[in-house]
Amino acid sequence: MKLQTLRQFRKMKGRTVLLRVDFNVAVGKGGKIAPEADVRLREAIPTIERLLEGGARVIAVSHLGRPKGWDAKLSLKPVAKHLEGLMGRPVTFVGESLTRGKAVERALAGLGDGQLAVLENIRFYPAEEKNDPKFAKRLAGLADVFVNDAFGTCHRAHASTAGVARSFRERYAGLLVEREVAGLNRLLVRPKRPFVVLMGGAKVSDKLPALKMMLKTADRVMVGGGMANAFLAAKGWNTGKSRVAGEEIRFAKGLLKNSGKKILLPVDILAASSLSERAKVRVVPADRIGKGDYAVDIGVATVLEYARLIRKAKTVVWNGPMGIFEIRKFSHGTVSLGRMVAAHSRGRAFGVVGGGETITALEMTGMAEWVDHVSTGGGAMLDFLSGKPLPGIRPLMR
Ligand code: ADP
Ligand code: MG
Repeated sequence: MKLQTLRQFRKMKGRTVLLRVDFNVAVGKGGKIAPEADVRLREAIPTIERLLEGGARVIAVSHLGRPKGWDAKLSLKPVAKHLEGLMGRPVTFVGESLTRGKAVERALAGLGDGQLAVLENIRFYPAEEKNDPKFAKRLAGLADVFVNDAFGTCHRAHASTAGVARSFRERYAGLLVEREVAGLNRLLVRPKRPFVVLMGGAKVSDKLPALKMMLKTADRVMVGGGMANAFLAAKGWNTGKSRVAGEEIRFAKGLLKNSGKKILLPVDILAASSLSERAKVRVVPADRIGKGDYAVDIGVATVLEYARLIRKAKTVVWNGPMGIFEIRKFSHGTVSLGRMVAAHSRGRAFGVVGGGETITALEMTGMAEWVDHVSTGGGAMLDFLSGKPLPGIRPLMR
C-alpha cells in the first residue's frame, strides 16, 4: 500500500478537484488574521498552486473552529480574503449553503480552468462531523477528483475527510499530507533515545488518550498548560479558578497510577488574578495554587527542569502550549521551551513540533525553521505517532 500523491495525478486540465484543506486558523477581531497565525494557510498554498497551474478547477473545503450550526462569526470569508492576499490571485468565496438546492453549483458555474473557489465552513452542517454518507455524496457530486491536504483534520472520520473519499475513483494526498507523512514516519521506526514529549494545550479530554499512547513509545512525557491542571487535580491539589472536568481527573489519575514514573508535572505554576494582560501574577509551587488563582503558565523552575530534559534528548516532540500564550504575560513558559526545542533540533535531536496553536507559538519564537519537522496537526500528529491509521489518510493508500 502506497500513498497516492499528486505525482500520480496526471491529467489536471479541465478537471474539477474537491480539495480538503485545513484553514482552521485563529481569526481575530474584524476578520484579521495575524501573520504568525496563518501558517496553515501558507502550508496549503503549494498544493493549490500545483493544481491551478495544472489547469484544474479547485473547490477548497475546510472547517473553522467548532460551530454549532450556521454561525457568521465562524465564516471562512475572511480566511478566503486573507488567502487572496497571500496568493496574489482572485479567490471566489462561496457563501451559499449546500442544503439549498443547487445554489452552490450556480455559484461555482463560472469557475474556469486554473481558478480557485472556497466553500463556506463545512462544520456549519451537522452532517459533516456525523460523517453522513448522503452528505458526503452531495459534496463528492461537486467534483471529479478528490485531493486531501488537510493533515490537521485527518484523524477525524468526517464527511469531508473520510466519507467523501470513496466516492472518487481518483483520490490523492496533497503535498502537505505527503510531507507530513514522510516527516512523521521518521519517528515511527525506532526513534533515537532519549525520546521526550512535551504536551500541553487545552483540548485535554481529546488528547489524554493520545498522551496515553505516547507513554508507550516515549521515555518521558512532560506536561504543561491546561493538560497539567488535570494532573495537578488528580494529585488532589487545588487548581483554583482553572476548571478541570471530573472525567479528565479520573483519566489522569489512571495514567499517574500506571505510568507515574514517565510523567513529569510542573513543580511551579504562574498564578494569575484574572485572564488579562492587567492580571497580577506570581509563581507558586504547583501544590499551592490559591482558590482565586488561574493557572496560566508553567513556572520558572519547571521551565528549567523541562529544558534540562530536552537538552539530553535525541528525539523531541512538542504539542500544546504550556500556558495561555496569547496573553503576553502568560507566554514565557511556552516561548522559552519553544526556543529550547528549536535550538536543540537539527542535528542534536530530531525535533518535531505540531498543533494549530503550538505552531503559532513557535512562530513567535522566530525559530520555526530550526525545527526538523513542523506539523500542522496537533491531534492528528499525535494519533499518527501512536501508530494509528488516520481515517483521512487510509483512503489515499492503494
Ligand atoms: P494545539 O492547537 O497546538 O494542538 P490545543 O488546541 O490543545 O493546542 O490548545 C491550545 C490552547 O491551549 C491555547 O489557545 C492556549 O491558550 C490554551 N492553554 C494553554 N494552557 C492553558 C491553561 N493553563 N489554561 C487555559 N488554557 C490554556
Ligand atoms: Mg488548537
